[in-house]
Amino acid sequence: MQQLLDTCRLGIMGGTFDPIHLGHLVAAEAAREQFDLEQVLFVPARLPPHKQDREITPAEHRYAMVLLATANHPRFVASRVELDRPGPSYTVDTLRLLRAEHPRAGLCFITGADALMELDTWKDPEELLRLCRMIVVSRPGCDRERLREKAADLQRRMPCHIEELAAPALAISSRDLRQRVAEGKSLRYLVPREVRDYILKHHLYRRGAATP
Ligand code: ATP
Ligand code: MG
Repeated sequence: MQQLLDTCRLGIMGGTFDPIHLGHLVAAEAAREQFDLEQVLFVPARLPPHKQDREITPAEHRYAMVLLATANHPRFVASRVELDRPGPSYTVDTLRLLRAEHPRAGLCFITGADALMELDTWKDPEELLRLCRMIVVSRPGCDRERLREKAADLQRRMPCHIEELAAPALAISSRDLRQRVAEGKSLRYLVPREVRDYILKHHLYRRGAATP
């Protein structure tokens, strides 16, 4: 597999995954299909630099849920690359590492439109965009006109490949799911069944528990 990945396209989906949900999985699958990705790595952030204003669920729980959610897809892989590295998880560092590991693979970073709009606030955006092709999934509620303007603006300012992905739009967010659990509402059909069982078993997202 290592050898295969050296010449193929490797998808990377970064996120907090607190918890992983069907929106993430549908986007990753659409990207895999449209861009002929050999594998999609799901990379939970250890310390997401943009989310330090709220308490994040311990990384091992988030990783376990990513493992459960990806286990039955032959081309989806849960990655520990950010978990096993100290400090905040910067995407550019992860991409550098993956580039060194797979020097000839085409790295495709899959991201939601909301994240692309904030790209200028990420660490070393220029290098990041040099290291990978960006595959941008629009999320319900996202202004596609603004998204295209943003992509055009970035492409004017730095050499990069940014492509829009047509994926079925699912209006699901981890924030809403955490809220649903806190309010005693159901997660059925919003997360894989195994993830729902895990959340219930470990009492995640309950009112007064780890995250609001
Ligand atoms: P939160 O509500 O806590 O911010 P989230 O649902 O946005 O969580 P993240 O872990 O922040 O999930 O997202 C990881 C990546 O997946 C981001 O690039 C984000 O834009 C994308 N993403 C999240 N939910 C969806 C969705 N429903 N459809 C498409 N992309 C999504
Ligand atoms: Mg988010």
